[in-house]
Amino acid sequence: METKVRFAPSPTGPLHIGGVRTALFSYLFAKKNKGVFILRIEDTDQNRYVEGSETYIQNALEWAGMIPDEGPSNGGAFGPYRQSERKAIYQQHIQELIARGKAYYAFDDAETLAEARKNAEIKGDTFRYGAENRMQFNNSLSLTKADVNAQLKGDYVVRLKVDPGNIITVYDEIRGTIQQDSDLLDDKILLKADGMPTYHFANVVDDHLMEITTVIRGEEWLPSLPIHQLLYDAFDWAAPQFMHLPLILKPSGKGKLSKRDGDKDGFPVFPLNWGDTAIGFKESGFLAEGFINYLALLGWNSGTEQEVYSLKELESNFSVQGIQKGGARFDYEKAKWINHQHLNAMEATDVYHYDLIKKQLQGVDSSKHLALLELLKERLFTLNDLAKEIGWMQDPESYDEKIVRKLLSKGASDIMAAISGVINDLNDLSGLKEALMPWAKENEINTGVMMQSLRIALVGKLAGPDLFKICSILGKNVTLNRIALAISFFNSKT
Ligand code: GLU
Repeated sequence: METKVRFAPSPTGPLHIGGVRTALFSYLFAKKNKGVFILRIEDTDQNRYVEGSETYIQNALEWAGMIPDEGPSNGGAFGPYRQSERKAIYQQHIQELIARGKAYYAFDDAETLAEARKNAEIKGDTFRYGAENRMQFNNSLSLTKADVNAQLKGDYVVRLKVDPGNIITVYDEIRGTIQQDSDLLDDKILLKADGMPTYHFANVVDDHLMEITTVIRGEEWLPSLPIHQLLYDAFDWAAPQFMHLPLILKPSGKGKLSKRDGDKDGFPVFPLNWGDTAIGFKESGFLAEGFINYLALLGWNSGTEQEVYSLKELESNFSVQGIQKGGARFDYEKAKWINHQHLNAMEATDVYHYDLIKKQLQGVDSSKHLALLELLKERLFTLNDLAKEIGWMQDPESYDEKIVRKLLSKGASDIMAAISGVINDLNDLSGLKEALMPWAKENEINTGVMMQSLRIALVGKLAGPDLFKICSILGKNVTLNRIALAISFFNSKT
């Protein structure tokens, strides 16, 4: 049987990274098994629908490189792929369940239910509409046929008839067998008064009709699994296999990673910007490859030391055995480190393609762009780090005075003047190292002091990339100028 995995987000706002991680594991499982990855938009809850979120979901998947084989934008043989367009299918299936005696109409108004809920709470009980009390309410099990027909002209819902006294057994590939006492379950609403199905009903009907073999979703849906199992049983359908992924936890402390954690500590929890209310990994300077690689490690490991993977490598290495049960702690520093590994492995010309990079190079002589990227890509954790890495393209605004004093005591001014002489004799600075090092040795010049003085002269502080490459990019004139400026500063301190 061909493996078919669906990602079934609700368009209720931007897709949180937990959602993207679910999409990724679904995608990887499908690809690993040479199967099909389906996008289904679960938009039956009109109250939670947020304009623009479906497009956001599509864009996020596309950016991450997870193109659905079937979905609302590219179609497929099992469409429509938007639940709001499948109303007739749900109507037909709800009728089938009612005919099988597995579901029933219920006409109770909101006040009656609120009252019943309140009474249960007063007694310290949880209100449940089910086998124990359903005959006290207004529904097609408790009313006469004539009353039911009359009431069907008004508002009604359809509820699942949960039989009491059963132990429902479900199986999750990650967590094993789980059992649930049916007495603790509600007669869940399957079809709402607005004619739309609830999540549980639409989800099961669609997974069956779309021939889904594997359902991968967040662990928050695990408590719903027994209800889904009852629905599969009610239709006499075989259930797909299930995998419920562990939560993504806050960087520290208890609980699920939230937007607030990101806002507080300045990191993204969404793949892309959402207007100006949420910042994305993309806009924070992540490569799609780095982002996806980090997400894969949030709840999965290969059992080896390897942590850096391309999407293609993830596709072939992914395994259900590597998915952990416990929560996966979000670690932004680790995410950046993974991104850095991908950036560093890229060709400078490829790094140059990114608009975020081009923006930071504005105002810099374009003949130097590639050389800069060649030199600096190994220092970038995100694409946005470039601006602070090219600060030395400008003359230093100040010099680290503590170092200057130390260097002065070791004859730095004279050494710099002598270096200027060596540089003057060169045509360009690509061979500076080869000229300067033997010269220092011959003249018994302390290379430590020489290098530090040169770095202070060029950058202002003892940090930055390879000094000889800096000189070569800045060119002979700028280098000589900066040395001269530094000498006069040094001399003003004596
Ligand atoms: N629409 C549900 C969600 O937003 C999907 C849950 C599932 O995959 O069954 O998470």
